[in-house]
Amino acid sequence: MTITEKKPCDLCGSDLPTPRFSHALESGTVIQVVSCGACGLLYTHPRPTRDELVPLYQKTYVDIPGKSAPSTVRSMVVRNRVLRSIWHRIAGQCMSRFLSRARGRVLDVGCGTGDLLVEVVARGCSGFGVELNPQSVAKCRGRGLHVTCGGLEDIDESIEPFDTIVFWHSLEHLPSPRSSLQRAARLLAPNGRIFVYAPNAHSYTAALFGPSWVGWHLPFHFTHFTLATLRAMVGASGLQVAQMRTVTAEFLIGNSLHVWAQARGGAMQRLALRGAFGTPLFRAAIIPAIRMLDAFMPGRGENLFAEITVGAADRDGGASHFSLLDSHGMIIDTRIPCHSHSQRHASR
Ligand SMILES: [Zn+2]
Repeated sequence: MTITEKKPCDLCGSDLPTPRFSHALESGTVIQVVSCGACGLLYTHPRPTRDELVPLYQKTYVDIPGKSAPSTVRSMVVRNRVLRSIWHRIAGQCMSRFLSRARGRVLDVGCGTGDLLVEVVARGCSGFGVELNPQSVAKCRGRGLHVTCGGLEDIDESIEPFDTIVFWHSLEHLPSPRSSLQRAARLLAPNGRIFVYAPNAHSYTAALFGPSWVGWHLPFHFTHFTLATLRAMVGASGLQVAQMRTVTAEFLIGNSLHVWAQARGGAMQRLALRGAFGTPLFRAAIIPAIRMLDAFMPGRGENLFAEITVGAADRDGGASHFSLLDSHGMIIDTRIPCHSHSQRHASR
């Protein structure tokens, strides 16, 4: 398996990749996470083309062994909306927060097998999706969902606009988050909202686990956002962040520990192989510590959750001007040209 695609920075267009760390795939191919020398965006370099991705998706995903919660408890929580919402808050999952904000016609970009759409439909919204995997699309259609097989670019812009567009752990997978956000903006109704949920590469868990952090998820994640670079990407797309927060979910920490322990060897590896970091007991035990860390380190939680609106007209003659932090925490001023979106919205 070769991985060949080398692209410049999606945020500022510079081609100044600075290596941060290397990662060897099972096939022996070595890829890197690099930061853009001009704006600090972290991205995967090189990355797979669409054709190269297909066989990779078929064989790889971190599957952590361990017993799941007893089925009676699990099914009670899954079926009861209030219990599920409480559990999501405790466990640091933003699902309930998103569901309480979703309204009208909802488009899920990279909808998988449609679990999120089923939830929004149950709340009285209309659910639409786009998904590359034909098997997942078939499953969605079997669940009565309106799903297009393909990418965001395959949705006709003349379609009735959407009130809510969500990138739930999908923006970081896309070849160009900037053009996908611009495309989403063109499909959005006036006063519509875009939601992004993505791993935070500046989180305490990313710092703790280093290359073992599952949020890198190489080679599938092409862009590795932080609060600063997601905000910048949103601005460069002609949109604006209405609110953004970070939150840590307990199950991803278990996955990171599993990967880290396996790489470390010895007793930790044996624990990992027995599935110690995937048990309900372990997951429950770490929740208080995670909630405390999130409270004391705002902005350093494991996942970014952003609510985005259509921005005001650009200042500075069509350039969005923002500050962001580089890998050492230094502030960089960056100007990024940004015109196509505003022109389009002005004409609507
Ligand atoms: Zn850049």
